[in-house]
Amino acid sequence: SRRVILKDYVEGYPTEEHMELLPAAAVDEAAAAEEGSVLVKNLYLSCDPYMRPKMSRPLHQSYTAAFVPGAAITGYGVSEVVRSSRPGLAAGDLVWGMTGWEDYSVVKPPFTAILTKIQPDDGVPLSYYTGILGMPGLTAYVGFHHICSPKAGETVFVSAASGAVGQLVGQFARLLGCHVVGSAGSKEKVDLLINKFGFHDAFNYKEEDGDLAGALKKRFPDGIDVYFENVGGKMLEAVLLNMKVHGRIAVCGLISQYNLTAGEKEADVGVRNLTSLVSKRIKMQGFIEPDHKHLYPEYMAWVLPHIKEGRVVYVEDVADGLEAAPGALIGLYHGRNVGKQVVRLTNP
Ligand code: NDP
Repeated sequence: SRRVILKDYVEGYPTEEHMELLPAAAVDEAAAAEEGSVLVKNLYLSCDPYMRPKMSRPLHQSYTAAFVPGAAITGYGVSEVVRSSRPGLAAGDLVWGMTGWEDYSVVKPPFTAILTKIQPDDGVPLSYYTGILGMPGLTAYVGFHHICSPKAGETVFVSAASGAVGQLVGQFARLLGCHVVGSAGSKEKVDLLINKFGFHDAFNYKEEDGDLAGALKKRFPDGIDVYFENVGGKMLEAVLLNMKVHGRIAVCGLISQYNLTAGEKEADVGVRNLTSLVSKRIKMQGFIEPDHKHLYPEYMAWVLPHIKEGRVVYVEDVADGLEAAPGALIGLYHGRNVGKQVVRLTNP
């Protein structure tokens, strides 16, 4: 049995040196037996961009606590219950929720409260509970349908559009009858957006770096009604210039900012073109998925038929083995993942 620990806090881009694969200590039987605790065998681990801010030395209060150097990294995953002291869960049940980057984890309260039992007859891959049927799926649903207040016929732009969240926002927008365009960082991803996910248009932002505003103007001659923000930085500045009056921006994430060093943050002049917010009466709202867990049943009832009847597809990038997890996580910040990044555990 093994685990992956964070060795020390990270400044700048994380590397494999910041993490280490170690033999796991024996299962803490006393902790596992405590009221409300659950011992699980991990089957799939999720690599998510928000894990990078948790690797930084905790200076500012965040909605999520920093990782503890020396301890197993924690994150979303799909697991099988080995032993349970939480009512409603029994050995053999499949669950998704917060677990550890290790073969076996003791999940303790309050995290056992968000362990969600999986109905194994769904007819969809178990790994989907790290993506479309898990946290990123609910994020896309809440962010698009609830935060953006979209209407049929509106124009929608999505950045990091081929990823875990973006590919879903694009498909949800198309299903609603919006005109949707995405940006991504390679030709392969742009092809996926158009040919697999049904975006009406897409472009490689790395090839338009000199003139992102022009690239958007070409695709949205009359402007953007809804921007689903995943990256921030220069893309946000370009989008602000292209928004329509009464446009809406849902700030889901700002991945271009997560690896900035303290010096880079200090030197940062901030986001330009903010006067557009006023002149165009734009509504810009950040949101986090944990605030909206109560909408999960509503989301599942809505999305499962779309999956089963082929109207929504999902692309995953699956890495094999716990030893591959650090590289898979780091890859998110270099755009190496094509689709949702998952790690499949092959338990000894
Ligand atoms: P993805 O699967 O999209 O993976 C990250 C992608 O971001 C990479 O593949 C890469 O794609 C792109 N990227 C990386 N670095 C940069 C950069 N410097 N500039 C532009 N693009 C970059 O991740 P998710 O779909 O899981 O997450 C997308 C966003 O949503 C993130 O910002 C994340 O933090 C946020 N999020 C927020 C949640 C919330 O509750 N608010 C919940 C879940 C996610 P490419 O090749 O296209 O550059």
